[in-house]
Amino acid sequence: MAHSSRSVDDIRDRIDSAFPESLETLKSLVRIPSVSWDGFPSDEVHRSAEFVAERVRALGLFGDVRVVTEPFPDGPGYGQPAVLARRNPAPGYPTVLLYAHHDVQPPGDSLVWESDPFEPVERDGRLYGRGAADDKAGVVVHLAALRALIDILGDDLNIGVALFIEGEEEFGSRSFTSILDRHATMLESDVIVVADSDNRSEDIPSLTVSLRGNVAFSLTVSTLNHASHSGMLGGAVPDAMMAATTLLSRLYNDDGSVAIAGLETHDASVPDFTREELVHDSGLKEGVSDIGTGPILSRLWFQPAISITGIDAPTVQNASNTLIPSVTVKISVRIAPGQSSADAFKHIEKHIRTTVPWGAHLEFSHIDLGDSFLVDSSGSAAALELDALRDAWDGADPVKVGVGGSIPFVADLVHRFPGAQILITGVEDPLSRAHSPNESLSLRVLRRAILAETLFLVRLNDRE
Ligand SMILES: [Zn+2]
Repeated sequence: MAHSSRSVDDIRDRIDSAFPESLETLKSLVRIPSVSWDGFPSDEVHRSAEFVAERVRALGLFGDVRVVTEPFPDGPGYGQPAVLARRNPAPGYPTVLLYAHHDVQPPGDSLVWESDPFEPVERDGRLYGRGAADDKAGVVVHLAALRALIDILGDDLNIGVALFIEGEEEFGSRSFTSILDRHATMLESDVIVVADSDNRSEDIPSLTVSLRGNVAFSLTVSTLNHASHSGMLGGAVPDAMMAATTLLSRLYNDDGSVAIAGLETHDASVPDFTREELVHDSGLKEGVSDIGTGPILSRLWFQPAISITGIDAPTVQNASNTLIPSVTVKISVRIAPGQSSADAFKHIEKHIRTTVPWGAHLEFSHIDLGDSFLVDSSGSAAALELDALRDAWDGADPVKVGVGGSIPFVADLVHRFPGAQILITGVEDPLSRAHSPNESLSLRVLRRAILAETLFLVRLNDRE
Protein backbone atom coordinates (compact mmCIF):
# COMPACT_ATOMS: atom_id res chain seq x y z
CA MET A 1 0.00 0.00 0.00
CA ALA A 2 1.24 3.47 -0.80
CA HIS A 3 1.29 6.17 1.84
CA SER A 4 2.13 9.69 0.77
CA SER A 5 3.56 10.41 4.23
CA ARG A 6 5.94 7.48 3.71
CA SER A 7 7.88 8.88 0.76
CA VAL A 8 11.66 8.68 0.82
CA ASP A 9 11.88 12.48 1.09
CA ASP A 10 9.53 12.61 4.04
CA ILE A 11 11.35 9.85 5.86
CA ARG A 12 14.71 11.50 5.11
CA ASP A 13 13.44 14.76 6.62
CA ARG A 14 12.38 13.03 9.81
CA ILE A 15 15.74 11.33 10.14
CA ASP A 16 17.62 14.56 9.45
CA SER A 17 15.73 16.43 12.15
CA ALA A 18 16.45 13.68 14.69
CA PHE A 19 20.07 13.32 13.53
CA PRO A 20 21.70 15.69 16.07
CA GLU A 21 20.20 13.60 18.86
CA SER A 22 21.40 10.35 17.24
CA LEU A 23 24.88 11.83 17.01
CA GLU A 24 24.81 12.85 20.70
CA THR A 25 23.82 9.29 21.63
CA LEU A 26 26.75 7.97 19.61
CA LYS A 27 29.15 10.39 21.28
CA SER A 28 27.92 9.39 24.74
CA LEU A 29 28.49 5.75 23.83
CA VAL A 30 32.02 6.40 22.54
CA ARG A 31 32.86 8.09 25.86
CA ILE A 32 32.28 4.75 27.63
CA PRO A 33 35.47 2.67 27.16
CA SER A 34 33.64 -0.64 26.82
CA VAL A 35 36.63 -2.82 25.90
CA SER A 36 35.49 -6.43 26.24
CA TRP A 37 38.93 -8.04 26.40
CA ASP A 38 40.26 -9.76 29.50
CA GLY A 39 42.37 -7.34 31.50
CA PHE A 40 40.09 -4.34 30.83
CA PRO A 41 37.45 -3.29 33.39
CA SER A 42 34.21 -5.10 32.63
CA ASP A 43 32.41 -2.40 34.70
CA GLU A 44 32.65 -0.22 31.61
CA VAL A 45 31.03 -2.89 29.42
CA HIS A 46 28.23 -3.12 32.00
CA ARG A 47 27.92 0.65 31.94
CA SER A 48 27.56 0.72 28.15
CA ALA A 49 25.03 -2.13 28.28
CA GLU A 50 22.94 -0.18 30.80
CA PHE A 51 23.23 2.96 28.68
CA VAL A 52 21.98 1.09 25.61
CA ALA A 53 19.18 -0.61 27.58
CA GLU A 54 18.00 2.75 28.87
CA ARG A 55 17.81 4.16 25.33
CA VAL A 56 16.00 1.05 24.15
CA ARG A 57 13.43 1.33 26.96
CA ALA A 58 12.93 5.01 26.14
CA LEU A 59 11.68 4.01 22.69
CA GLY A 60 8.57 2.62 24.38
CA LEU A 61 8.39 -0.04 21.71
CA PHE A 62 9.34 -3.17 23.62
CA GLY A 63 7.46 -5.08 26.26
CA ASP A 64 10.62 -6.79 27.39
CA VAL A 65 14.11 -5.25 27.62
CA ARG A 66 16.84 -7.21 29.38
CA VAL A 67 20.53 -6.92 30.12
CA VAL A 68 21.81 -10.50 30.25
CA THR A 69 25.13 -12.03 31.19
CA GLU A 70 25.49 -15.73 30.41
CA PRO A 71 28.13 -18.41 31.12
CA PHE A 72 30.65 -19.71 28.62
CA PRO A 73 29.39 -22.98 27.15
CA ASP A 74 32.80 -24.63 27.37
CA GLY A 75 34.44 -23.73 30.66
CA PRO A 76 34.09 -21.64 33.78
CA GLY A 77 33.22 -17.95 33.74
CA TYR A 78 30.67 -15.56 32.29
CA GLY A 79 30.60 -13.46 29.16
CA GLN A 80 29.94 -9.75 28.88
CA PRO A 81 26.45 -8.24 29.13
CA ALA A 82 24.19 -8.12 26.08
CA VAL A 83 21.00 -6.12 25.68
CA LEU A 84 17.97 -8.05 24.42
CA ALA A 85 14.53 -6.70 23.62
CA ARG A 86 11.48 -8.04 21.86
CA ARG A 87 8.10 -6.96 20.58
CA ASN A 88 5.97 -9.68 19.03
CA PRO A 89 4.43 -9.24 15.55
CA ALA A 90 0.77 -8.90 14.76
CA PRO A 91 -0.61 -12.20 13.43
CA GLY A 92 0.76 -12.96 9.97
CA TYR A 93 3.62 -10.42 10.12
CA PRO A 94 7.32 -11.29 10.22
CA THR A 95 9.78 -10.50 13.00
CA VAL A 96 13.07 -8.79 12.25
CA LEU A 97 16.07 -9.20 14.54
CA LEU A 98 18.46 -6.24 14.65
CA TYR A 99 22.01 -7.04 15.73
CA ALA A 100 24.95 -4.79 16.64
CA HIS A 101 27.57 -4.81 19.41
CA HIS A 102 28.34 -2.21 22.07
CA ASP A 103 31.80 -3.46 23.04
CA VAL A 104 34.99 -2.23 21.41
CA GLN A 105 38.59 -3.19 20.72
CA PRO A 106 41.32 -1.81 22.99
CA PRO A 107 42.53 1.61 21.82
CA GLY A 108 46.02 0.38 20.88
CA ASP A 109 48.99 2.72 20.68
CA SER A 110 47.89 6.01 22.27
CA LEU A 111 50.74 7.88 20.57
CA VAL A 112 49.27 7.15 17.14
CA TRP A 113 45.84 8.56 18.02
CA GLU A 114 45.45 12.17 16.96
CA SER A 115 42.80 12.66 19.65
CA ASP A 116 41.70 10.82 22.79
CA PRO A 117 40.17 7.50 21.64
CA PHE A 118 37.35 7.82 24.15
CA GLU A 119 36.59 11.51 23.58
CA PRO A 120 34.72 11.70 20.25
CA VAL A 121 35.87 14.49 17.94
CA GLU A 122 34.30 15.65 14.64
CA ARG A 123 36.73 16.52 11.87
CA ASP A 124 35.88 17.00 8.18
CA GLY A 125 32.56 15.19 8.32
CA ARG A 126 33.86 12.25 10.30
CA LEU A 127 33.55 11.30 13.94
CA TYR A 128 36.79 10.00 15.46
CA GLY A 129 36.93 7.67 18.44
CA ARG A 130 37.19 4.01 19.37
CA GLY A 131 33.92 2.33 18.47
CA ALA A 132 32.64 5.39 16.55
CA ALA A 133 32.25 3.05 13.57
CA ASP A 134 32.70 -0.50 14.91
CA ASP A 135 30.13 -0.93 16.14
CA LYS A 136 28.54 1.78 18.27
CA ALA A 137 27.37 3.36 15.02
CA GLY A 138 25.53 0.09 14.33
CA VAL A 139 23.78 0.43 17.71
CA VAL A 140 22.79 3.99 16.87
CA VAL A 141 21.50 3.02 13.42
CA HIS A 142 19.11 0.55 15.05
CA LEU A 143 17.97 3.02 17.73
CA ALA A 144 17.44 5.83 15.22
CA ALA A 145 15.67 3.61 12.68
CA LEU A 146 13.31 2.26 15.35
CA ARG A 147 12.56 5.76 16.57
CA ALA A 148 11.71 6.81 13.00
CA LEU A 149 9.68 3.63 12.44
CA ILE A 150 7.49 4.38 15.46
CA ASP A 151 7.03 8.00 14.33
CA ILE A 152 6.12 7.07 10.80
CA LEU A 153 3.92 4.05 11.37
CA GLY A 154 2.25 4.73 14.70
CA ASP A 155 -0.56 2.22 15.12
CA ASP A 156 0.22 0.68 11.74
CA LEU A 157 3.36 -0.94 13.14
CA ASN A 158 2.73 -4.66 12.77
CA ILE A 159 6.07 -6.36 12.25
CA GLY A 160 7.76 -7.91 15.26
CA VAL A 161 11.11 -6.48 16.32
CA ALA A 162 13.84 -8.18 18.31
CA LEU A 163 17.04 -6.46 19.33
CA PHE A 164 20.34 -8.11 20.20
CA ILE A 165 23.14 -5.74 21.18
CA GLU A 166 26.08 -7.95 22.05
CA GLY A 167 28.82 -7.08 24.55
CA GLU A 168 31.75 -9.26 23.53
CA GLU A 169 31.92 -9.44 19.74
CA GLU A 170 35.47 -8.10 19.84
CA PHE A 171 36.55 -10.85 22.19
CA GLY A 172 35.31 -13.92 20.39
CA SER A 173 31.57 -13.85 21.26
CA ARG A 174 32.40 -16.48 23.84
CA SER A 175 28.96 -16.71 25.49
CA PHE A 176 27.04 -16.17 22.24
CA THR A 177 25.66 -19.70 21.98
CA SER A 178 24.60 -19.58 25.65
CA ILE A 179 22.64 -16.41 24.93
CA LEU A 180 21.01 -18.08 21.92
CA ASP A 181 20.17 -21.16 24.02
CA ARG A 182 18.75 -19.32 26.99
CA HIS A 183 16.90 -16.54 25.21
CA ALA A 184 15.81 -18.26 22.00
CA THR A 185 12.22 -17.05 22.30
CA MET A 186 13.43 -13.44 22.58
CA LEU A 187 15.46 -13.75 19.39
CA GLU A 188 13.35 -15.91 17.12
CA SER A 189 12.96 -14.10 13.80
CA ASP A 190 12.33 -14.30 10.07
CA VAL A 191 14.85 -11.68 8.99
CA ILE A 192 18.14 -10.86 10.71
CA VAL A 193 19.94 -7.56 10.10
CA VAL A 194 23.57 -7.56 11.24
CA ALA A 195 24.81 -3.94 11.16
CA ASP A 196 28.53 -4.61 11.58
CA SER A 197 30.15 -4.49 8.17
CA ASP A 198 31.53 -2.27 5.49
CA ASN A 199 30.57 -0.21 2.44
CA ARG A 200 32.54 -0.06 -0.77
CA SER A 201 32.90 3.70 -0.32
CA GLU A 202 31.08 6.67 1.18
CA ASP A 203 29.05 6.84 -2.03
CA ILE A 204 28.59 3.16 -2.87
CA PRO A 205 26.40 1.22 -0.44
CA SER A 206 27.09 -2.48 0.03
CA LEU A 207 25.42 -5.62 1.15
CA THR A 208 27.88 -8.17 2.52
CA VAL A 209 27.17 -11.57 1.01
CA SER A 210 30.18 -13.64 2.00
CA LEU A 211 32.53 -13.89 4.92
CA ARG A 212 35.71 -15.92 5.15
CA GLY A 213 36.02 -18.31 8.06
CA ASN A 214 39.02 -18.46 10.32
CA VAL A 215 41.24 -21.06 11.92
CA ALA A 216 43.75 -19.87 14.51
CA PHE A 217 46.07 -21.96 16.62
CA SER A 218 49.39 -22.06 18.41
CA LEU A 219 52.06 -24.44 17.17
CA THR A 220 55.05 -25.42 19.26
CA VAL A 221 58.03 -26.82 17.36
CA SER A 222 60.74 -28.57 19.43
CA THR A 223 63.95 -30.28 18.39
CA LEU A 224 66.13 -30.45 21.50
CA ASN A 225 65.65 -31.45 25.13
CA HIS A 226 67.69 -28.45 26.25
CA ALA A 227 69.53 -25.42 24.91
CA SER A 228 73.16 -25.84 23.86
CA HIS A 229 76.03 -23.60 22.79
CA SER A 230 75.62 -22.99 19.06
CA GLY A 231 79.38 -23.04 18.53
CA MET A 232 79.67 -26.50 20.02
CA LEU A 233 76.71 -28.28 18.39
CA GLY A 234 75.41 -25.98 15.62
CA GLY A 235 75.72 -27.63 12.20
CA ALA A 236 74.98 -31.17 13.36
CA VAL A 237 71.55 -30.86 15.01
CA PRO A 238 68.64 -28.61 14.01
CA ASP A 239 67.57 -25.86 16.39
CA ALA A 240 63.85 -25.22 16.80
CA MET A 241 63.92 -21.86 14.99
CA MET A 242 65.47 -23.48 11.94
CA ALA A 243 62.84 -26.20 11.97
CA ALA A 244 59.99 -23.73 12.57
CA THR A 245 61.01 -21.26 9.84
CA THR A 246 61.58 -24.09 7.35
CA LEU A 247 58.18 -25.54 8.24
CA LEU A 248 56.44 -22.16 7.96
CA SER A 249 57.97 -21.49 4.54
CA ARG A 250 56.34 -24.70 3.32
CA LEU A 251 52.90 -23.20 3.96
CA TYR A 252 53.38 -20.94 0.92
CA ASN A 253 54.00 -21.28 -2.79
CA ASP A 254 56.67 -19.09 -4.35
CA ASP A 255 54.04 -16.55 -5.40
CA GLY A 256 52.86 -16.24 -1.80
CA SER A 257 49.63 -18.19 -2.28
CA VAL A 258 48.73 -20.91 0.21
CA ALA A 259 50.33 -24.29 -0.56
CA ILE A 260 48.01 -26.48 1.51
CA ALA A 261 46.15 -29.11 -0.51
CA GLY A 262 42.49 -29.34 0.45
CA LEU A 263 41.99 -25.66 1.25
CA GLU A 264 39.29 -24.56 -1.14
CA THR A 265 38.69 -21.47 -3.26
CA HIS A 266 35.18 -20.12 -3.70
CA ASP A 267 34.32 -19.68 -7.35
CA ALA A 268 32.48 -16.42 -8.01
CA SER A 269 33.10 -13.25 -9.95
CA VAL A 270 34.35 -10.11 -8.23
CA PRO A 271 34.30 -6.39 -9.03
CA ASP A 272 37.45 -4.71 -10.33
CA PHE A 273 39.97 -3.60 -7.78
CA THR A 274 43.23 -2.11 -8.94
CA ARG A 275 46.72 -2.67 -7.64
CA GLU A 276 46.80 1.08 -6.86
CA GLU A 277 43.80 0.66 -4.56
CA LEU A 278 45.48 -2.31 -2.88
CA VAL A 279 48.68 -0.32 -2.36
CA HIS A 280 46.69 2.58 -0.95
CA ASP A 281 44.64 0.46 1.47
CA SER A 282 47.53 -1.71 2.67
CA GLY A 283 50.48 0.67 2.70
CA LEU A 284 52.46 -1.74 0.53
CA LYS A 285 55.97 -0.39 0.16
CA GLU A 286 57.52 0.65 -3.14
CA GLY A 287 59.03 -2.32 -4.96
CA VAL A 288 57.25 -4.97 -2.86
CA SER A 289 55.04 -7.18 -5.03
CA ASP A 290 51.55 -8.28 -4.15
CA ILE A 291 51.02 -12.01 -3.58
CA GLY A 292 48.68 -14.73 -4.76
CA THR A 293 46.90 -15.36 -8.03
CA GLY A 294 43.65 -14.28 -9.67
CA PRO A 295 41.72 -11.02 -9.31
CA ILE A 296 42.69 -9.09 -6.19
CA LEU A 297 39.22 -9.22 -4.61
CA SER A 298 39.05 -12.96 -5.23
CA ARG A 299 42.28 -13.27 -3.22
CA LEU A 300 40.79 -11.15 -0.42
CA TRP A 301 37.27 -12.59 -0.34
CA PHE A 302 37.29 -16.08 -1.82
CA GLN A 303 40.74 -17.63 -1.30
CA PRO A 304 42.47 -18.88 1.83
CA ALA A 305 45.28 -16.85 3.40
CA ILE A 306 47.80 -17.60 6.12
CA SER A 307 49.46 -15.12 8.46
CA ILE A 308 51.96 -15.82 11.20
CA THR A 309 50.79 -13.35 13.83
CA GLY A 310 53.11 -14.04 16.74
CA ILE A 311 56.22 -15.90 17.77
CA ASP A 312 57.58 -16.81 21.19
CA ALA A 313 61.35 -17.02 21.07
CA PRO A 314 64.21 -15.19 22.81
CA THR A 315 64.18 -11.45 22.04
CA VAL A 316 66.98 -9.96 19.99
CA GLN A 317 68.17 -8.12 23.09
CA ASN A 318 68.44 -11.39 24.99
CA ALA A 319 69.90 -13.40 22.13
CA SER A 320 72.92 -15.47 23.07
CA ASN A 321 74.84 -17.98 20.99
CA THR A 322 72.44 -20.76 21.81
CA LEU A 323 70.57 -23.42 19.87
CA ILE A 324 66.94 -22.71 20.71
CA PRO A 325 65.22 -25.96 21.83
CA SER A 326 61.59 -24.92 21.29
CA VAL A 327 59.63 -22.18 19.48
CA THR A 328 55.91 -21.39 19.56
CA VAL A 329 54.16 -19.56 16.73
CA LYS A 330 50.61 -18.30 16.34
CA ILE A 331 49.14 -19.15 12.97
CA SER A 332 46.01 -17.44 11.65
CA VAL A 333 44.30 -18.84 8.56
CA ARG A 334 41.41 -17.31 6.62
CA ILE A 335 39.16 -19.92 5.05
CA ALA A 336 37.28 -19.47 1.77
CA PRO A 337 33.51 -19.11 2.09
CA GLY A 338 31.82 -22.47 1.66
CA GLN A 339 34.44 -24.60 3.44
CA SER A 340 33.92 -25.46 7.09
CA SER A 341 36.71 -24.41 9.41
CA ALA A 342 36.84 -27.90 10.97
CA ASP A 343 37.44 -29.44 7.55
CA ALA A 344 40.04 -26.78 6.74
CA PHE A 345 41.88 -27.41 10.01
CA LYS A 346 42.09 -31.13 9.19
CA HIS A 347 43.94 -30.30 5.96
CA ILE A 348 46.17 -27.71 7.62
CA GLU A 349 47.21 -30.13 10.37
CA LYS A 350 47.89 -32.87 7.84
CA HIS A 351 50.02 -30.54 5.70
CA ILE A 352 52.07 -29.42 8.68
CA ARG A 353 52.59 -32.97 9.97
CA THR A 354 53.68 -34.23 6.55
CA THR A 355 56.02 -31.33 5.70
CA VAL A 356 57.72 -30.91 9.06
CA PRO A 357 61.50 -31.10 8.53
CA TRP A 358 63.88 -33.43 10.40
CA GLY A 359 61.16 -35.06 12.46
CA ALA A 360 60.80 -32.03 14.73
CA HIS A 361 58.16 -32.50 17.44
CA LEU A 362 54.88 -30.61 17.04
CA GLU A 363 52.24 -29.59 19.49
CA PHE A 364 48.98 -27.87 18.42
CA SER A 365 47.11 -25.83 21.05
CA HIS A 366 44.58 -22.99 21.50
CA ILE A 367 42.69 -24.06 18.40
CA ASP A 368 39.99 -21.55 17.53
CA LEU A 369 37.58 -22.22 14.66
CA GLY A 370 35.06 -19.80 13.14
CA ASP A 371 32.97 -20.80 10.15
CA SER A 372 32.75 -18.94 6.87
CA PHE A 373 29.44 -17.77 5.54
CA LEU A 374 27.71 -17.33 2.18
CA VAL A 375 24.50 -15.31 2.16
CA ASP A 376 21.69 -16.39 -0.08
CA SER A 377 21.02 -12.94 -1.52
CA SER A 378 18.19 -14.11 -3.76
CA GLY A 379 15.57 -13.81 -1.00
CA SER A 380 12.82 -11.21 -0.79
CA ALA A 381 14.42 -9.48 2.20
CA ALA A 382 17.67 -8.96 0.28
CA ALA A 383 15.75 -7.42 -2.64
CA LEU A 384 13.98 -5.08 -0.22
CA GLU A 385 17.28 -4.14 1.40
CA LEU A 386 19.02 -3.47 -1.93
CA ASP A 387 16.18 -1.12 -2.91
CA ALA A 388 16.37 0.65 0.44
CA LEU A 389 20.14 1.10 0.07
CA ARG A 390 19.74 2.55 -3.43
CA ASP A 391 17.08 5.03 -2.27
CA ALA A 392 19.06 6.06 0.81
CA TRP A 393 22.26 6.58 -1.20
CA ASP A 394 20.58 8.96 -3.67
CA GLY A 395 20.17 6.34 -6.38
CA ALA A 396 23.67 4.79 -6.21
CA ASP A 397 23.52 1.10 -7.08
CA PRO A 398 24.46 -1.06 -4.11
CA VAL A 399 27.15 -3.69 -4.64
CA LYS A 400 27.23 -7.17 -3.17
CA VAL A 401 30.58 -7.61 -1.48
CA GLY A 402 32.58 -10.27 0.24
CA VAL A 403 34.52 -9.56 3.39
CA GLY A 404 37.98 -10.97 3.93
CA GLY A 405 37.54 -11.04 7.69
CA SER A 406 35.24 -13.23 9.71
CA ILE A 407 32.14 -12.71 11.83
CA PRO A 408 31.95 -16.23 13.27
CA PHE A 409 28.76 -15.65 15.22
CA VAL A 410 26.87 -15.21 11.93
CA ALA A 411 27.26 -18.95 11.32
CA ASP A 412 25.89 -19.60 14.84
CA LEU A 413 22.88 -17.40 14.13
CA VAL A 414 22.10 -19.14 10.85
CA HIS A 415 22.51 -22.50 12.50
CA ARG A 416 20.06 -21.53 15.23
CA PHE A 417 17.50 -19.87 12.95
CA PRO A 418 17.89 -21.79 9.69
CA GLY A 419 14.73 -20.33 8.14
CA ALA A 420 15.73 -16.70 8.67
CA GLN A 421 16.99 -14.48 5.85
CA ILE A 422 20.17 -12.75 6.92
CA LEU A 423 21.29 -9.30 5.81
CA ILE A 424 24.76 -8.04 6.68
CA THR A 425 24.85 -4.28 6.44
CA GLY A 426 27.15 -1.70 7.93
CA VAL A 427 28.26 1.84 8.52
CA GLU A 428 31.95 1.51 7.81
CA ASP A 429 33.74 2.71 4.71
CA PRO A 430 37.36 2.22 3.59
CA LEU A 431 38.54 5.16 5.72
CA SER A 432 37.00 3.85 8.95
CA ARG A 433 40.05 1.91 10.19
CA ALA A 434 38.08 -0.23 12.60
CA HIS A 435 40.34 -1.83 15.26
CA SER A 436 43.14 0.65 14.44
CA PRO A 437 44.13 3.98 15.96
CA ASN A 438 42.13 6.96 14.60
CA GLU A 439 39.04 4.86 13.92
CA SER A 440 36.35 7.06 12.41
CA LEU A 441 32.85 7.13 11.01
CA SER A 442 31.58 9.08 8.02
CA LEU A 443 28.57 11.06 9.24
CA ARG A 444 27.19 11.01 5.71
CA VAL A 445 27.25 7.20 5.76
CA LEU A 446 25.65 7.15 9.21
CA ARG A 447 22.78 9.31 7.99
CA ARG A 448 22.28 7.12 4.93
CA ALA A 449 22.52 3.89 6.92
CA ILE A 450 19.77 5.10 9.27
CA LEU A 451 17.61 6.05 6.30
CA ALA A 452 18.20 2.73 4.55
CA GLU A 453 17.30 0.70 7.63
CA THR A 454 14.19 2.81 8.24
CA LEU A 455 13.05 2.39 4.63
CA PHE A 456 13.67 -1.34 4.88
CA LEU A 457 11.62 -1.69 8.08
CA VAL A 458 8.76 0.51 6.88
CA ARG A 459 8.51 -1.40 3.59
CA LEU A 460 8.75 -4.78 5.31
CA ASN A 461 5.84 -3.69 7.47
CA ASP A 462 3.76 -2.29 4.58
CA ARG A 463 4.47 -5.21 2.28
CA GLU A 464 2.48 -7.75 4.26
ZN1 LIG B 1 32.27 -5.12 14.84
